[in-house]
Amino acid sequence: MQITVVGTGYVGLVTGTCLADLGNRVLCVDVDPAKIALLERGEVPIYEPGLKELIQDNVAAGRLAFTTDVAAGVAFGEIQFIAVGTPAAADGSADLSQVLQAARNIGRHMTDFKVVVNKSTVPIGTGEQVAGILREEIAQRGVTASFAVVSNPEFLKEGAAIADFMRPDRIVLGADDTPEGQRALALMRRLYAPFNRHHERTRVMDVKSAEFTKYAANAMLATRISFMNELANLADRVGADIESVRQGIGSDPRIGYSFLYAGTGYGGSCFPKDVQALAHTARSHGQKLRVLEAVESVNDEQKSVIARKVFERYGERLEGRTFALWGLAFKPNTDDMREAPSRGVIAALARAGARIRAHDPVAMEQARAALAEDFRAEPALLQRVEFVRHPMDAVKDADALVIVTEWKAYRSPNFGLIKAAMREPLIFDGRNLYEPQDMQQAGFTYVGIGRGTRA
Ligand code: NAD
Repeated sequence: MQITVVGTGYVGLVTGTCLADLGNRVLCVDVDPAKIALLERGEVPIYEPGLKELIQDNVAAGRLAFTTDVAAGVAFGEIQFIAVGTPAAADGSADLSQVLQAARNIGRHMTDFKVVVNKSTVPIGTGEQVAGILREEIAQRGVTASFAVVSNPEFLKEGAAIADFMRPDRIVLGADDTPEGQRALALMRRLYAPFNRHHERTRVMDVKSAEFTKYAANAMLATRISFMNELANLADRVGADIESVRQGIGSDPRIGYSFLYAGTGYGGSCFPKDVQALAHTARSHGQKLRVLEAVESVNDEQKSVIARKVFERYGERLEGRTFALWGLAFKPNTDDMREAPSRGVIAALARAGARIRAHDPVAMEQARAALAEDFRAEPALLQRVEFVRHPMDAVKDADALVIVTEWKAYRSPNFGLIKAAMREPLIFDGRNLYEPQDMQQAGFTYVGIGRGTRA
């Protein structure tokens, strides 16, 4: 099949590349000429394990190409995936400007039947809005061209995006019960047939329910995280170990182990904005989602849990102190710094006068840009942050090590070397990577999240 994917971010690039790998011909369109130029040179603007090789293979096989030419993109695919960004607007709602612009471009150039697929995470009712724009643009040109808008939200996880896309738990398709909607559904089923060979993974529903499903999924996952973080803070007060509690409840199949880790709060480009957007949708319909609003405020507080523990130990003035910081990306295996908890930790420590020596296996360049943005009004703070190439370079003469992202490379370090290099053997572990008893035996003061440990 011939497919166009609009937007070459984490979702668009993975979607386009994986669909090409299944044998389809795919044209990826982006409005960012720098991104397209990079992709045309065989480079990849984001870090996602395995993606670069898969792009190169499919470009070489003639199945995958990139362009900034919107008209060529519209002409190419009978199926047009919209996979552009939907960031949070100032009031917490989803900013739909990229999606609506993408829809307008399709409407402006289409001459025959198109399936327009919302793969971006979009508020309930966006399908109707996109259809309205397409109708408007087509009518203005005085042509006749039919279309259907399908909702096909994406559930991939950054860091495991290719595996998630290629082996989805479910494929959600929302379509209207109209002849065009059913025609579109048949095409989408054909496109996704290779994923359904083992068993049927497709869930067909109406467009609004499909749009809602994506928000409900992210809201549920965020809820589990905030729930555990709040319990972890109580565990610290009562002297219990949240890790034991996690295993104790996770073994119940009604609960399960996933997404029960206490830590420094969720970040990234999805949970924060999607939780806010769903709460905003509810408010605009006269309903308050009380659980979800609590999930968000617990998370906001949890992002400062590490800084609070540091201040408890040293007081709120940190001049003359140096902290090693391991992990900048919002989670392992990605370079994505959007809403990364490390940004808040660094800001709090730097504002209190500390120096920070930071390491991340892949996100240092993105972190530099993100911090430059965060410190635009106080550029002197940027001078307090140094990025180092090796985790051991960070701990040298550090007053304490702060762990923010649970990269595999940090799981079994040489504690003897770390202890010898540091001014004081003290670890604030925002991801509970180590066992408090082991750390005590290794001669460290160890502060986790909800482990009943104090500095
Ligand atoms: P992103 O910001 O990484 O990429 C968006 C891309 O779209 C950019 O390259 C931008 O230049 C391009 N773009 C913007 N307007 C355009 C236009 N009119 N025409 C063509 N290109 C345009 O975004 P992302 O992280 O890939 O997320 C995309 C959507 O998928 C969002 O709605 C997000 O919520 C959702 N989603 C993301 C993830 C994830 O893990 N990142 C997972 C599931 C769903």
